Amino acid sequence: IPPLDTLIAPRVALLGDAAHGMAPDLGQGGCQAMEDAWVLADAVQHALTEHADTSIALATALTHYDVARVERVGDIVSRARKRAAMIHGLGPEQTHAWYDELAHEDGDAILAGLKKTVVGGPLG
Ligand SMILES: Cc1cc2nc3c(=O)[nH]c(=O)nc-3n(C[C@H](O)[C@H](O)[C@H](O)COP(=O)(O)OP(=O)(O)OC[C@H]3O[C@@H](n4cnc5c(N)ncnc54)[C@H](O)[C@@H]3O)c2cc1C
Repeated sequence: IPPLDTLIAPRVALLGDAAHGMAPDLGQGGCQAMEDAWVLADAVQHALTEHADTSIALATALTHYDVARVERVGDIVSRARKRAAMIHGLGPEQTHAWYDELAHEDGDAILAGLKKTVVGGPLG
């Protein structure tokens, strides 16, 4: 699905594929679902210690969750789409260039890409 403008509605939070079903080519769908769960649980825990009124705590936690996640998951959805187009031949020349590059890849660039994605997130 295209990136969403928001992951929340009153008393509702979307997580995982419901929030950001994505092309599989970055291997990030499940990773982002786990980041969502971590951030939401943390936000709820903090909000409950700060607000005695649970309605206010929940609203605060959902807003925090949305602000923390919507841009990151939208960016990864868009990157996964671009990667899918490149890998699966949307533009044949681009796809050939990708596989030519992979043939000479020693693994460093792939590891650097993985590291960038992990370090850029809440568990990094
Ligand atoms: C082939 C493949 C390879 C993948 N490889 C990777 C990878 O390498 N790395 C990675 O990070 N991600 C990968 N993913 C993506 C990852 O599996 C998903 O992004 C992740 O499972 C999403 O988790 P989720 O909890 O949001 O949804 P799901 O795992 O789909 O869980 C939703 C659950 O809700 C249940 N459900 C549905 N409707 C109802 C209902 N009405 N009532 C009760 N229960 C219901 C379903 O049965 C299911 O158990 C891959 C996916 C596929 C298909």
